[in-house]
Amino acid sequence: MEAQYCGHVLLLPYPAQGHINPLLQFAKRLASKGVKATIATTTYTVKSIHAAAVTVEPISDGFDDGGFTQTQKVDVYLNSFEQNGSRTLSKVIAKYEDSPHPVDCVVYDSFFPWALDVARRHGVRGAAFFTNSATVCAVFAHIHCGALELPVEIEENGAAVVLPGIPPLYGPDIPSFITAPDSYPAYLAMKMRQFSNVGNADWIFANTFQELEPEVVAGVSKVWPAKLIGPMVPSSYLDGRIEGDKGYGASLWKPLGEECLNWLKSRPNQSVVYVSFGSMVSLSTKQMDEMARALIASELNFLWVVRESERSKLPQGFVESARGKGLVVSWCNQLEMLAHPAIGCFVTHCGWNSTLELLSLGVPTVAMPQWSDQFTDAKFIEEIWKVGVRPKLDKYGIVNREELVFCLKEVMEGEMSEEIKRNARKWRELAKGAVSEGGSSDKAINEFVEHLKCSKIGKQLKQIINE
Ligand code: UDP
Repeated sequence: MEAQYCGHVLLLPYPAQGHINPLLQFAKRLASKGVKATIATTTYTVKSIHAAAVTVEPISDGFDDGGFTQTQKVDVYLNSFEQNGSRTLSKVIAKYEDSPHPVDCVVYDSFFPWALDVARRHGVRGAAFFTNSATVCAVFAHIHCGALELPVEIEENGAAVVLPGIPPLYGPDIPSFITAPDSYPAYLAMKMRQFSNVGNADWIFANTFQELEPEVVAGVSKVWPAKLIGPMVPSSYLDGRIEGDKGYGASLWKPLGEECLNWLKSRPNQSVVYVSFGSMVSLSTKQMDEMARALIASELNFLWVVRESERSKLPQGFVESARGKGLVVSWCNQLEMLAHPAIGCFVTHCGWNSTLELLSLGVPTVAMPQWSDQFTDAKFIEEIWKVGVRPKLDKYGIVNREELVFCLKEVMEGEMSEEIKRNARKWRELAKGAVSEGGSSDKAINEFVEHLKCSKIGKQLKQIINE
């Protein structure tokens, strides 16, 4: 018998790990509420996605053999994606037009505002999905509407960014693209384009939750009226309502799960430092060296994710000399690690997904932002949510080994350790509450699903009347 759905949502993520994860998770969440969910992703990433409840459809970014790595030029890649992606996304929508489940809404990564035009050409609704914090979105939204000018000048003795609902942002807290607009012009242009037609979208979704950034959301609601639906973290780590939802279901690299779990099994509770800088950050050789030496000097157990492309920056002989105390792997299932009782601290680059994961799992943190929005996330981790510490940079812009050892000890067993752990537990409960039945994010998702239901009933009635 044909399955019954209350609507069909087609989701389009930017094909990077930190974007596929939250959009795929949203797809699973919608599917658990009776919606047919389809992910449209590049030919190159299709094979990395495995989620039983979600259909996967390939589209083209014009680089079908290697994606972004084939060109390495952001503007070339984005232009090609817009051209080829528009055409192939349109084909996917058309494919379902005469099926029992035509697409009702395209939920597109806010990096792809052109997807709204594609949806409109098919008479389909469109929703922008933002993968950053509300604070970061608010900063860019205010630049877009002219309330903040570029470049944002860093003030010697004052806050450089003062906006409604946002704590004052000082130099080290500000997204790097806007203090140095020439550093990554193509990325900055992409961040700004997110707002180009957002006013025309039927919905705006953001992967954050009401309790996490309440004043921010109120302050920016006029220019960016987003529905907060996060944290988009697999259900088994939060509300447990989606059966078997233990992982995102997408991995662009092969995770060394068993090796990590076997190694963690023999470590005492809360004794291991988990270190990861996500899927994109590339540390300098000097910073890698200081990190390696700090981990050894701390005498703590550690599990360090060093992507294959970064491995040559490790000091010679480090992996061998660390044996017993430390494990270095090229990729892992991060959530499984953060949820493991042996983990006591997370050294992170503060990517937004990693930030939501550490909050959702209540893991004390050492925040080491490297670029883009990570600086703002780090401020919140240390000063607003108080779930970690942020090491100071030395005069060369490096976190040196002494500072790192100090921060690791502080978080694991120092004066602030108990308070940090208490706050981490508090945020974990609030994150759980947001996605549990009746929670703020759950309600926001239900409202969207109700809309889909109503418009489906409306369409069916129209059809009956016409017949
Ligand atoms: N991640 C993972 N295994 C790793 C490192 C990272 O599964 O070894 C996941 C992590 O759980 C997160 C995503 O990759 O969901 C990284 O996203 P984030 O926004 O934190 O950083 P980005 O990679 O976009 O800089």
